[in-house]
Amino acid sequence: MQKQDFNEGLLGFLDASPTPFHATANISAMLHNAGFTKLKEVDKWDLQEGQKYFVTRNDSSVIAFTYPKKHKNYVMIGTHTDSPNLKLKPNPVIKEHGIVKFGVEPYGGLLLNPWFDRDLSLAGRVSYLDMQDELQDVLIDVKKSIATVPSLAIHLDDKANKDKTINKQTDICPILTTQEDFDFDTFLRWQLDRLGRPDVKEIYANELSFYDTQNASLVGLNDDFIASARLDNLLSSYVGMLSICSVDNATPMLFIASDHEEVGSESTSGAGGSFLENTLRRMFNDYDEYMEMVRSSLMISADNAHAIHPNYPSKHDKEHAPQMNSGVVIKVNANQRYASSSTTISKFLNVASKLDIATQKFVTRSDMGCGSTIGPITATRIGIETIDIGLPTLAMHSIRELAGSDDAHSLYKIFVNFKA
Ligand SMILES: [Zn+2]
Repeated sequence: MQKQDFNEGLLGFLDASPTPFHATANISAMLHNAGFTKLKEVDKWDLQEGQKYFVTRNDSSVIAFTYPKKHKNYVMIGTHTDSPNLKLKPNPVIKEHGIVKFGVEPYGGLLLNPWFDRDLSLAGRVSYLDMQDELQDVLIDVKKSIATVPSLAIHLDDKANKDKTINKQTDICPILTTQEDFDFDTFLRWQLDRLGRPDVKEIYANELSFYDTQNASLVGLNDDFIASARLDNLLSSYVGMLSICSVDNATPMLFIASDHEEVGSESTSGAGGSFLENTLRRMFNDYDEYMEMVRSSLMISADNAHAIHPNYPSKHDKEHAPQMNSGVVIKVNANQRYASSSTTISKFLNVASKLDIATQKFVTRSDMGCGSTIGPITATRIGIETIDIGLPTLAMHSIRELAGSDDAHSLYKIFVNFKA
């Protein structure tokens, strides 16, 4: 697949995936189109050698795998479906000063400043009781710009460009309307009605998040950059999903995109949960075979890497400062915040150099804290050798992040040629 087609598909995926639920639905649809059979965790599995399968959990995490069975040395690609955002509170409506606004809870470590003055929409999952007394879950995406968080004018905030602090409870409530009789339940019912679901007896709960309605786009004089929300980590998720769709059925490959990475991965659908282990045990239910598979496989944990910021170069160790469009980044941390070892790094470099694809190394400054990924969590939980890699990114956890337009396609070429 050529870079231009690849990037066009990526932009479409980013726009169509405002929440982990939508990302999982879109990945599932693409896997289905590529000939993967859907499994349900509650069913008995009868896996056939030479086939390929996928399974989801909580509608927000997904695992896809080929099943050559004899070949147990899997290349596993691990990413995450969630991104920092403003999540709606259960009783969200606040009416004051002639305005209806929504109470929100920040999800993950988001940069709050960029959320001001954007055109926001709302998407996620709604759970309700239908007229037949059956519980239903449905994904909604309002798509229209229905809210915004206005800045406080500089005339009323003389410290705005100096010491600005943002109160997460009071300062970031998106405003919705001046319509005094606004009713949230009616609003949700109207959204369900639009989806062809008028049979709603009672709406019980929701997991809805705000998102920026500005579409992903190529930016820069020569389309050098991809600008979008949720590049962390839908960028790697797209590359992983497309890679497993591209390899033949005889290549042992597994792709897992987990939810809740941005909040520590501790959940049924997070990488700290049992989803991957449960699935691997069902693929290889003989314990010896299972261990043979685990210890001969490699997990590539793919998540965004901090590119050096040209306006803030002092934030990087200058010998380990990844640049945009200069190749995939291998992440190293002596304190195991990243799971890369010299052995897993050499396997990765060997594939990249045979393909003549450039790589870079990242180590965080020794006087700064280091983030982490699903890499060390998965390595700890499963006992699989792991490498942490990622694509150089600026403005990570902003409402609009920036990555190089060459890098994702390079990573795709590495993944489809990888043998563990
Ligand atoms: Zn991430």
